[in-house]
Amino acid sequence: MAGRNKHVVSKTSSSLAIVEANPPANKKVVAIDAPIVSSYNDRIRPLLDTVDRLRNLNVMREGIQLPTIVVVGDQSSGKSSVLESLAGISLPRGQGICTRVPLVMRLQRSYSTEPEIWLEYGDTVVHTDEEHIAKAICAATDVIAGSGKGVSDDPLTLHVKKAGVPDITMVDLPGITRVPVNGQPENIYEQISAMIMKYIEPQESIILNVLSATVDFTTCESIRMSRQVDKTGERTLAVVTKADMAPEGLLQKVTADDVRVGLGYVCVRNRIGEETYEEARMQEELLFKTHPMLRLIDDDIVGIPVLAQKLMLIQATMIARCLPEIVRKINEKMEISVLELNKLPMVMASAGEALMTLMDIIGSAKESLLRILIQGDFSEYPEDHKMHCTARLAEMLSQFSDNLQAKVEDKTEFLMDEIKILDECKCVGLPNFIPRSAFLAIFSQYVDGIHSKPVEFIKKIWDYIEAVLIPVISKYAENFPQIQSSLKRAGRNLITKMKEQSVNRVAEIVEMEKLTDYTCNPDYMTSWTEKTASQQGFIHAVLYDEKKPESFSLAGFGEVKISHLRKCHAHLLQQAFDMKMRIASYWNIVLRRIVDNLALFLQFSVKNLVNVQFQKEIVAEMVDPRGGGGVERMMEESPSVASKRERLKKSVKLLKESKDVVAAIVDQSSGYGGRLN
Ligand code: GDP
Ligand code: MG
Repeated sequence: MAGRNKHVVSKTSSSLAIVEANPPANKKVVAIDAPIVSSYNDRIRPLLDTVDRLRNLNVMREGIQLPTIVVVGDQSSGKSSVLESLAGISLPRGQGICTRVPLVMRLQRSYSTEPEIWLEYGDTVVHTDEEHIAKAICAATDVIAGSGKGVSDDPLTLHVKKAGVPDITMVDLPGITRVPVNGQPENIYEQISAMIMKYIEPQESIILNVLSATVDFTTCESIRMSRQVDKTGERTLAVVTKADMAPEGLLQKVTADDVRVGLGYVCVRNRIGEETYEEARMQEELLFKTHPMLRLIDDDIVGIPVLAQKLMLIQATMIARCLPEIVRKINEKMEISVLELNKLPMVMASAGEALMTLMDIIGSAKESLLRILIQGDFSEYPEDHKMHCTARLAEMLSQFSDNLQAKVEDKTEFLMDEIKILDECKCVGLPNFIPRSAFLAIFSQYVDGIHSKPVEFIKKIWDYIEAVLIPVISKYAENFPQIQSSLKRAGRNLITKMKEQSVNRVAEIVEMEKLTDYTCNPDYMTSWTEKTASQQGFIHAVLYDEKKPESFSLAGFGEVKISHLRKCHAHLLQQAFDMKMRIASYWNIVLRRIVDNLALFLQFSVKNLVNVQFQKEIVAEMVDPRGGGGVERMMEESPSVASKRERLKKSVKLLKESKDVVAAIVDQSSGYGGRLN
């Protein structure tokens, strides 16, 4: 930084000269006119202009930090006096807190003999002159922060265009007070510290710490604060005021550097009382040259002119260093804003246009549903697993299938249900015919046992589809909050309707199974033949085995208890066994048939929903005059969208201008950015 630059400032009685000692090849001597030393530098000036123009454009509003010199200091340390000395003007000074809002001082050197001075806050511009400047600032402060003693965050900008002032922009902040004085809010300390922190925290800020020579630097609140955000002090410069009031030991204080100020110290003497500006500078020069103790302090760390020079260099260095990052941020912010702007809907002029847009929304939503629900293309929602619908549906189906086919524990003893029913269905006839009515009665019990499962399953499916459908609608109607609720309502109605239909249909599918026992699947016969093969063995074990075994191992059933069957008639036992085997063989086929049917039906309904019903239902809702005239409502742009559009447009315009401003300078600045560092 500038601290490392070797600028030798030599003082003569009439004028000052700055010798740029590094690099030697570029040695340059610039004559500087009193009272303010200002080496007008052709290379630095464009940089300052650029930042000033960015500041003018208010890019800080877009969250882009600009390099800024921030003046901090405890109350009455002499902040305003330092600024005054730099600007060669009178600012409100002294008693109580005078600086109650951030005062941005933009000093600009001009060649005109007439100074131009004006104030800016909000949209107000107030022209003033050197004589009335203090009053004008107080009046503007009253407008911004109220006429009491309160403080405000809203900045006030003071432009000073004048011969002899250095080209710098600084922010003067209210001084830090620990104890609220009469009429100040209780939390004044917190308010002011928060304001100061906001300004000194960004890495782009240069902290100009104003310290009074009359105090112990280590006790300064402003030092404590600046060290919080700039631990090494690399962006902190100290100005020691009131050198005239406490000359003893000042040299030791600034050479010891107890408080670690990386950019160094400059000792000054400000205007006292009613001195003119020129008198003040002469007195300062005289003081540091003649005072027995102050004379010993190095020439290049004393006097307002040296301070001015240092500030300009530090500022230029900072700007050159920050510009690339500023450019990057401007580009980034602009891209985001443009993208957002492009996403906003067009303003619709006619019902026809609104209808077209509605059809567009429906069309896009439909396409999206088609992709996620049917085609399994979830590229639109790579991270959202809920929206990977084909997989989720398949999972739900497979879960349903497992659940349906899960083995249920028999509540009654083996074959007893069958025996009871057969007993009740007996009639006058040959004993080895199985009555069909008995078979169907048993089979009905089986079906009744599972009939709620398919219905629950299909309900669950529709709940899931609703949870997918609504976000898709929201997404595509994002820019039309005025119709979003209608669209969502239509979506929900549609799902309710589809769910109702599906439940009926599924109940029918299950009911059909009860009505007729039929399959053309040859597995039935195969399975039955296999199972009945063990019939002889089973009957033997139950009725004739001398050992009277407790249980019998039956393929497909495992170890079944048989002792309770010994009291049965042989033919009933045989019939019951036969029936059990038929039903077992058939039941497997039925369960799979239900799963298959539901799978096909599910796929059919989803397709029907996306391809036919979705569009129909939504269009009906939107054009239905009882629905509140959705299409007409689309033509009113909601206030929130309108203001968003305005904001984005402004922001894009501003960033575009900023980009142009910076583009003009950035190539050049890269050329000397290195030299300044
Ligand atoms: P601020 O509260 O930090 O803005 O401090 P001011 O600039 O208002 O200064 C507070 C008081 O200190 C004023 O009365 C100034 O005249 C006085 N003052 C500031 N700098 C100097 C200086 O270098 N020497 C002397 N003797 N008084 C000074
Ligand atoms: Mg002040």
